[in-house]
Amino acid sequence: LGASRTLWELTERRARLTPDRPALLQDDRVLTFGALRDRAERTAAGLHNRGVRPGTVVAWQLPTRVETVVLTLALARLGAVQTPVIPFYRDREVGFALRGSGAAHFAVPGRWRGFDHTAMARRLGAPGVFEAYDTLPEGDPAALPDPPASGTDVRWIYWTSGTTSDPKGVLHTDRSLIAGGSCLAHALRLTPDDVGSIAFPFAHIGGLDYLVMLLLYGFPAVLLETFALPDSLDTYRAHGVTTAGGSTAFYAMFLAEQRRQPGRKIVPTLRLLAGGGAPKPPELYHDVVREMGCRLTHGYGMTEVPMITMGSPEDTDENLATTEGRPPEGMEIRITDGEVRLRGEAVCRGYLDPAQTAEAFDEDGFLRTGDLGHLTDSGHLVLTGRLKDVIIRKGETISAREIEDLLHRHPAVREAAVIGLPDPERGERVCAVVESTGDVTLGALTAFLRGEGLAVHKLPERLEVVDALPRGDTLRKVLKYKLRERYS
Ligand code: ATP
Ligand code: MG
Repeated sequence: LGASRTLWELTERRARLTPDRPALLQDDRVLTFGALRDRAERTAAGLHNRGVRPGTVVAWQLPTRVETVVLTLALARLGAVQTPVIPFYRDREVGFALRGSGAAHFAVPGRWRGFDHTAMARRLGAPGVFEAYDTLPEGDPAALPDPPASGTDVRWIYWTSGTTSDPKGVLHTDRSLIAGGSCLAHALRLTPDDVGSIAFPFAHIGGLDYLVMLLLYGFPAVLLETFALPDSLDTYRAHGVTTAGGSTAFYAMFLAEQRRQPGRKIVPTLRLLAGGGAPKPPELYHDVVREMGCRLTHGYGMTEVPMITMGSPEDTDENLATTEGRPPEGMEIRITDGEVRLRGEAVCRGYLDPAQTAEAFDEDGFLRTGDLGHLTDSGHLVLTGRLKDVIIRKGETISAREIEDLLHRHPAVREAAVIGLPDPERGERVCAVVESTGDVTLGALTAFLRGEGLAVHKLPERLEVVDALPRGDTLRKVLKYKLRERYS
């Protein structure tokens, strides 16, 4: 199935193989692979009646629901270009997506969680706004043109998280996304009897990765409109979820919940937590595995390349704790000047802005990730920071990540973010912003860091203690630009 040229071809093949097996589970609804295919085709006909053609750009900002997956597949059936937008995003990010993609249609949930998406769409001047929370347009599939034959046309525009700059529109093809999902499937070694679930929004690129994986394996996924503990645990238990996907903050939430109920496995069927997208402290890995009694597989991905490396069952505990795993077959990794660079079928085609594309690929066609790292002798990738996440003090380059990793060893530090602040004499100086679980002072932290062997010129000169670090909505990544704005 992984050789399918298009997402629609993959959907058709899966529907022919196991039409009656469940694909999507939500509340008390069950959609089989056969029904998913049929509904997507009727929806494609409904969209076609509204003027959506191959190549038409359609933006959608919908919560994780059966209808959203149906809409995605309907657009794939038509060969439209889709641009998914995270449901929590507001005018700023949605504005980027609508203006950047030039979308002709915009599917919104209407009023959702107290927020009026339709009004926002109007405010932003979006054309072709339609509500698609639980009713999708349907029509007669007989009137549809043939499905797309090529999987190498650009059909997806995903948006980066905007951690280092404004969000960038990333161009993907059906093939690049099927390649990414196949890699994920290969690394995780699941079975058709697994029951999956994702804690992050389906609109995130990892959602499509996951959908490809479902279609490849033929197992069902439980859809959660919002992931919240402890409530989502009831859903997990009711459906017997065996594997759940998320990011670092999500493992930590699970662990905290488990600690509230010692002596009893909070989801008895759960055997694998899988995720990535943000750094993971090694202690968290060990705590999750020991206390939750399940495996944890963490990987490295980005909007441009949804799966780059991933841990797998043959990795040792040590490798799983301290590395991002190995690249799948077909993913070439090269380290140039400390930067991780990538080439392979799962790599995006580039960015919406051609100038960004030209800058992003090197002369051999490798994508510059902007991430710093190295490969171990066994071929495992270790990430050490981001190129743009450095502080330059008196001409010396200091890695924020190095200081953060050491701060995380301090018992009273829950999470630390290290930033550079402008300094008239030194260029920049180091500031640590800390979520703490006890008393911390600048003096105590710098003494601790010295004890850990950190060079004197890297010691923070300012400490800010906060209740909560500002985070992005999807993967809960710390937004350092907000910290720089606040403390500069
Ligand atoms: P922008 O490109 O707009 O600045 P972003 O890079 O944060 O935002 P994403 O594509 O969501 O947007 O995130 C990808 C980045 O997340 C990677 O380039 C890397 O820096 C970080 N990342 C992903 N996985 C891991 C991981 N396992 N460990 C550490 N960092 C990771
Ligand atoms: Mg990025």
